[in-house]
Amino acid sequence: MQHHETIQFYKIKKRCTNRKRKKENAQFIAGGTNLVDLMKKNIATPDALIDITSALSDKIEIKNNSTHIGAMVRNSAIATNEIILAKNPLLVKAVLAGASPQIRNMASTGGNLLQRTRCPYFYDITTPCKRKPGSGCSALNGHNRMNAIIGYSEQCVAVHPSDLCVALAALNARVYISDKKINLLSSLKTFTVCQVIHHNWIIIYLLMLSLH
Ligand SMILES: Cc1cc2nc3c(=O)[nH]c(=O)nc-3n(C[C@H](O)[C@H](O)[C@H](O)COP(=O)(O)OP(=O)(O)OC[C@H]3O[C@@H](n4cnc5c(N)ncnc54)[C@H](O)[C@@H]3O)c2cc1C
Ligand code: SF4
Repeated sequence: MQHHETIQFYKIKKRCTNRKRKKENAQFIAGGTNLVDLMKKNIATPDALIDITSALSDKIEIKNNSTHIGAMVRNSAIATNEIILAKNPLLVKAVLAGASPQIRNMASTGGNLLQRTRCPYFYDITTPCKRKPGSGCSALNGHNRMNAIIGYSEQCVAVHPSDLCVALAALNARVYISDKKINLLSSLKTFTVCQVIHHNWIIIYLLMLSLH
């Protein structure tokens, strides 16, 4: 694994004045259940990790007739929360369909939305994949039984890896995102196909679900 440093989110502004952070290939880290795996395989090679675990909300609340889920709410908390159980039980089913109790205890809601694809060619650093710059797609003519049959593009036929996102899309969830220039409330469906999410400095704050 490449050597990296870890910085707390609240210290970033101070660091920006001290160093030119643009040169750094920094990435946010929440539960680390996806990013650390990618780092171990040298697929993700950040030189700095920005720890956002204490900077974002870990609360589930009802506000303005919507369920608000903070980006740092752990997947296991969604599965046991009384508001979610009463108002959005589909999310409970979706969360419990995925991973293991240990992973769900660490995995955050924001990280679940931005976890990388599970396409095996993406995880194999020796095979071509368009998500690794400068090469083609091995899945197009390879083993692609688990890849998309609808909604794919010529660029990539991988499916979105999250069970939770499928339920959130069905419930018309909206995502509140922000960076230095934009604060945006986007529909989850738009958010998951939008290129902007690959920008390392976009941060997810919370998810909103309207109650009907
Ligand atoms: C063995 C195993 C089995 C799994 N099985 C399933 C399954 O069956 N179904 C399923 O849906 N998932 C499954 N997962 C995926 C798991 O749910 C995700 O790894 C997890 O949700 C990611 O959350 P995290 O907080 O650990 O993210 P991290 O690993 O910390 O981050 C993932 C990515 O999101 C970015 N990020 C994290 N939070 C934010 C934020 N707030 N704003 C901006 N960027 C952010 C990070 O920079 C990184 O790029 C599995 C994972 C493992 C390891
Ligand atoms: S479908 Fe192709 S481009 Fe997409 S992740 Fe898999 S190998 Fe890469």
